[in-house]
Amino acid sequence: IDGAQREFDYFALSLQWPGTICHKTRHCCSSNACCRGSNSPTEFTIHGLWPDYNDGTWPSCCYRSQFDVKEISTLLDALEKHWPSLYCGKSSTCFKKHGTCSSPVIRDEYSYFITTLNVYFKYNVTKILNEAGYVPSNSERYPLGGIVSAIENSFRATPEVICSKEAVEEIRICFFKDFKPRNCLASKTSCPKYVSLPAYVSMGREASE
Ligand code: 5GP
Ligand code: 5GP
Repeated sequence: IDGAQREFDYFALSLQWPGTICHKTRHCCSSNACCRGSNSPTEFTIHGLWPDYNDGTWPSCCYRSQFDVKEISTLLDALEKHWPSLYCGKSSTCFKKHGTCSSPVIRDEYSYFITTLNVYFKYNVTKILNEAGYVPSNSERYPLGGIVSAIENSFRATPEVICSKEAVEEIRICFFKDFKPRNCLASKTSCPKYVSLPAYVSMGREASE
């Protein structure tokens, strides 16, 4: 801690698919509008902007910094919508763990969150997949290769796709330090050949809460 860790090599923007997360977890969803069936989310949301090393590891909590919610008060609406804490994660943890390791590219808390939002808006994975015909569905199965190709064709870089059983749980897109897309570390994928993008279906429990 406190600057002992070497500078990171690249960024991974980790996006999660609420339809899959909300199916998997019950423990936080009652307090999380994002998991309520009435307005089932149809966009990938932000899990985090992560500074990573090329060897597959990553630094965390690089210097002591008090997270101050006041610094990002103008971003809170956007963050709540696009960066919900689907597992009850906290933005304070997020900043301390990952944001503090993003320097010298990103130097403070406000920059960390606004930069992440801007990159997320610019590289719109949901839009690219929708335009290629990959839309939320509880019955369709899509070829994993087709999803990867759609993103590669648009960003000229290979993403990483993470699945929970056959459902897409997370898509990570990677960037050089100047935020030009680069390949993620394509090792193994946890996905089968055909995957789903489930729509979240309320189990009715939330309605009575
Ligand atoms: P999980 O167990 O969901 O894969 O990861 C738990 C936490 O570890 C994530 O929320 C994130 O903070 C961190 N993490 C997981 N994978 C990576 C990674 O590839 N890079 C970085 N920087 N952090 C990661
Ligand atoms: P962390 O607080 O280190 O980011 O995450 C702690 C644990 O909760 C990890 O093991 C990770 O699997 C889970 N977790 C927390 N937030 C998220 C999230 O938004 N998405 C996913 N997939 N896992 C999360």
